[in-house]
Parts: sequence; structure tokens; C-alpha cells
Amino acid sequence: MGSIAENVQRVLEDIDKSCSKAGIPAGSVELVAVSKTVDAAMVREAYDAGLRMFGENKVQEFVHKSDELPADIKWNIIGQLQTNKVKYIIDTKIYLLHSLDRESLAEKLQSHCESRGAFVDVLVQLNLSKEDTKAGVYADDVDAFIDMLQKKDRLRIKGIMTIGPNTDDESRVRSVFAQAKAIYDRLAGQIGGMKYLSMGMSQDYEAAILEGSNMVRIGTAVFGRRDYGKA
Ligand SMILES: *Cc1c(COP(=O)(O)O)cnc(C)c1O
Repeated sequence: MGSIAENVQRVLEDIDKSCSKAGIPAGSVELVAVSKTVDAAMVREAYDAGLRMFGENKVQEFVHKSDELPADIKWNIIGQLQTNKVKYIIDTKIYLLHSLDRESLAEKLQSHCESRGAFVDVLVQLNLSKEDTKAGVYADDVDAFIDMLQKKDRLRIKGIMTIGPNTDDESRVRSVFAQAKAIYDRLAGQIGGMKYLSMGMSQDYEAAILEGSNMVRIGTAVFGRRDYGKA
């Protein structure tokens, strides 16, 4: 693995190659560099290599880094969010919450945004592989979940996020991503403002792009391997 700048270049090139394979224009997939557990100096290197979207899964870590790093970074929260942390992500102004996965969290976001006169852009996290280690709304429950969200006027639904199944079986991975794309397209036809289908990580982003992802969340391939500990 090379320097962070080299990794960024390689990942951007690979994304463009996948775009061309998928028959979509280069640059039509957003890269969120997942900087969890990486210190601010390393994030800065990726920033200097041109990246502006970063993803964090721990609120404390995000607040700390966002303090130290340039204000034009768009911070994405990608990990499971405890309701008692909601105030930090609203007050520090994230770009996008990828992991909206339950009604109690939606309620807390709504009430905190009301009290601050704020809005928050969210993705609904889907659990399509039904692995019980994963958070997210099941496909069967997604319509009811969206109905509930549409009554919360402080939350703007920007799309769908999912994590591929933990398997080497490429066809299984692709079929889960295809299912997410189908749900995304159906919802985008029903509600305005949908913009992101967030799927694909270091191991499976080509498969995700081939199935219609327009936002990939990549940690290891940018920052190198590290022990995430308990995500
Ligand atoms: C850690 C993480 C990623 C990045 O994973 P890599 O395999 O390091 O690319 C993406 N999405 C979520 C939700 C994560 O927790």
C-alpha cells in the first residue's frame, strides 16, 4: 500500500474504471473516505490529495476531528447512532447521516432539529442480507418506515444506504446490491429529493457501482488496514 495520496489516486481511477464498465460517466460516483480511527493528520493528507467527503462512525471522534480540520469538509456519519449523540451531529452540522435505521432515532432527530431550527439530510439504512449483526430496516418494512419519516418535516430523505453481505460469493453480493437499487428507484419515483444510493466498501465497490451505486464508502483502500475495533 502506497502513501495516502497514491491510494486516493488509485481508488479514484478504479472508481472511474468501474463507472466506464457500468456505462455511466466518470465522476458520477461520490467517494466518501471512511476516516474512522484515522488521526487528523492522515485525514489532512487525503484532503490535500483532493478529497472533501469523509465518513466517521463515532460521534466523539467526528466532533474532535471536525474541530481540527478545514471547514469545507463534508462529514458523513456512517455508523449506528445512539439517540443521546444526536445533538452533536446536528449542532456540528454533518453533511449526511447514512445510518438512519429506527423510529426512535428519527424522533430524536426531529425534536432536536425543531429546537435548533435545523434540518438534517438522511439516508435510510437497509438490512437486505438480514445478517443479525447488521443494523437497518428490512425490505418488507421500508414503505412503512418511509411513511413515518415523511411526517417528520425536519428530516430530508436523500436516499438509501446498505452494506453488502459478508461473503466472497460475488453473485450473492451483486444480487443484494441490485435489490437495493430496485428499492432506491422505486422510492425515488415516489418522493422528491432522492439523490444517493450509498453502497460499496473497499472489498465490493466495483460490484456496487455495477449495480447502480452512486456513493461508495471506502476506508481501507484509502488509509490502509487498521484495527477498527468494535465498529
Ligand atoms: C468501516 C466502514 C466502511 C469502510 O470499510 P472499508 O472496508 O475499510 O472500506 C464503510 N461503511 C461502513 C458502514 C463502515 O462501518
